[in-house]
Amino acid sequence: MESVRFGRVVFMPGPNRGKYPHCHSLFIDDEVQAVVDPASDEAALKRLAEEKRIAVVIHSHWHEDHFWFTDLFAGARLWVPAADLEPYLDLENFIRWYGFDAPEHAQQWRQILAQQFRYRPRRPDRTYTDGETFSFGTTRAEVVHTPGHTPGHSCLFFPEESLLFLADIDLSRFGPWYGDVYSNLDDTIASVEKVRKIPARRYVASHEQGLFQAPIDDLFDRYLAVVEDRDRKLRELLGEPRSREEIIVSRIVYGRPREPKSFYDFGEWATMRKHLERMIRRGEVKEEDGRWRLVSG
Ligand SMILES: [Zn+2]
Repeated sequence: MESVRFGRVVFMPGPNRGKYPHCHSLFIDDEVQAVVDPASDEAALKRLAEEKRIAVVIHSHWHEDHFWFTDLFAGARLWVPAADLEPYLDLENFIRWYGFDAPEHAQQWRQILAQQFRYRPRRPDRTYTDGETFSFGTTRAEVVHTPGHTPGHSCLFFPEESLLFLADIDLSRFGPWYGDVYSNLDDTIASVEKVRKIPARRYVASHEQGLFQAPIDDLFDRYLAVVEDRDRKLRELLGEPRSREEIIVSRIVYGRPREPKSFYDFGEWATMRKHLERMIRRGEVKEEDGRWRLVSG
């Protein structure tokens, strides 16, 4: 993939179509030079750090596949969503927010975060909330708070470029992730409905295809349909009482077993748990003796 310039906003593709552990980045080439989510191509970001004067690094949310190469921009100020502050301050908050309950899993992630992703606890220089406007010179970006994926997850709308940065509302076939401890399924859906009303001509998402031209209503529909599909499959499964293990091996989220198994088992359950909680809230499902089943009648 190639970098693409829209006025003063530059799309910087991540390796392997910006798939995890990478993402795509934005570079704002204005009086105040800024980078959004610097976890795309390390060499390209390194050149940017050397050749430009990056004053600000903005994170759309707290996940490692969005902050990875932030340390290349040593003198830059860091702006993050207010509702995602805690994981920046302490590695233990970070681990807790993901919900790794098995001690060996948590320990493995402490190492991965510190060594691979170069996580260092840090107090960000600014936290931002919904409706704020960032001014970089002639370029402006409006914060669109889109919680669900994470509590602080935020999109950015650049009105002059008619460009909406969707961050992890990535419109992928996999669909949305809402499996963290503080992720929220209903908020995820509401946030997708919120951004699709913004009249943008083009869109940038953090992973895979990355660039889209309006209209993309069919892609928003497909993205939300994944949630409904997971719900439907789980409902079918719960015609009989099912254990956590049985729900995991049904592979409703990932479709088939994948490696590393512990990672995908975790993701499968983290996602299914959110569906179960919602069904219980709606009175559709009951839990008894570690098994979930549909409420009959
Ligand atoms: Zn994310």
